[in-house]
Amino acid sequence: MEKKHILLLTTGGTIASLPGGEGLEPHRSDVMERQLNQLRSYFDITVEDLMCLDSSNIRPAEWQQIAKRVFETRLDYDGIVISHGTDTMAYTASAITWMLPGLDRPVVLTGSQLPLADVLSDGPDNLRTAFAMAATGCNGVYLAFDRKVMLGCRAVKVRASGFSAFESVNAHYTAQVSNLGLVLDHSGLQPQMGFPQLMTDISDSVFLLKLTPGLDPRIFEMLSVMGYKGIVIEAFGLGGVNVLHEGLDGIRTALQRDISVVVTTQCLYDSADLGVYQVGKKLLDLGVIQGRDMTSEAAMTKLMWAIGQGMNRRQIEALFKRNLAGEITV
Ligand code: ASP
Repeated sequence: MEKKHILLLTTGGTIASLPGGEGLEPHRSDVMERQLNQLRSYFDITVEDLMCLDSSNIRPAEWQQIAKRVFETRLDYDGIVISHGTDTMAYTASAITWMLPGLDRPVVLTGSQLPLADVLSDGPDNLRTAFAMAATGCNGVYLAFDRKVMLGCRAVKVRASGFSAFESVNAHYTAQVSNLGLVLDHSGLQPQMGFPQLMTDISDSVFLLKLTPGLDPRIFEMLSVMGYKGIVIEAFGLGGVNVLHEGLDGIRTALQRDISVVVTTQCLYDSADLGVYQVGKKLLDLGVIQGRDMTSEAAMTKLMWAIGQGMNRRQIEALFKRNLAGEITV
């Protein structure tokens, strides 16, 4: 059988790191060569070093660069694997999902907790799973880690050092590795979003705020003065906020200043539902947008993208009611 042609775009991260004077430092793809040579018996691989960063240093400008490169090169390959640091991989995976609507190739992000240079690295396994997923012909943005594949917009990093670092939150895994090989669950595939487009405009004026008991509501005033155009609030439980002691005043002010406010839950699992408690209902009446069961990474980047695309508050509200890529249960 003819080998699938897969592009590996490298961006840095632990997977490509070697010890340096101040700790692990990312290197270019030459440190991956031995592993890639093994994979070459199964896949026809082209490697391109796009950047060489610890993912803590990846910003929206790098998301744009990654999305652009995927869009430009995709038709020359059957699939694309992106090696990336694990720390912000879930943000990148979500952000490029919005930037590449209608994506017509599989794009799979992966990385590792232990550098490939270490004999016990989890990198070889993660790369194998990512390449296998990239060769399936299932279009969309995915993340492969620890023998599991999930939608990029449902992935969350849940462990700082454990090998099972990512989970698919509130959504089925797209695929798992078993004795049968890569077993796909078709209900976990990314729905198709029309024809392929590159839409990289994104705003960095969105703030993610984790609600804490007694939070000073003047923080919302400050965010507005600082020019923020969107706020994602990780509220309590099903979506509660403090409605006593002027707790709502800040959010009301933000909304009056045309800031879009999306409310999710700070619980990792299940969905926010502002209609259940009075402390949520009062928020809904003010005009906040429900983030439901989206991850904070997906809600944050979707709002950044919506604002970057020039949408107004009404359009953003309508966008959050739509499931674009499997990110939300509506
Ligand atoms: N600090 C690294 C990074 O995100 C961690 C990793 O790749 O696992 O780039």
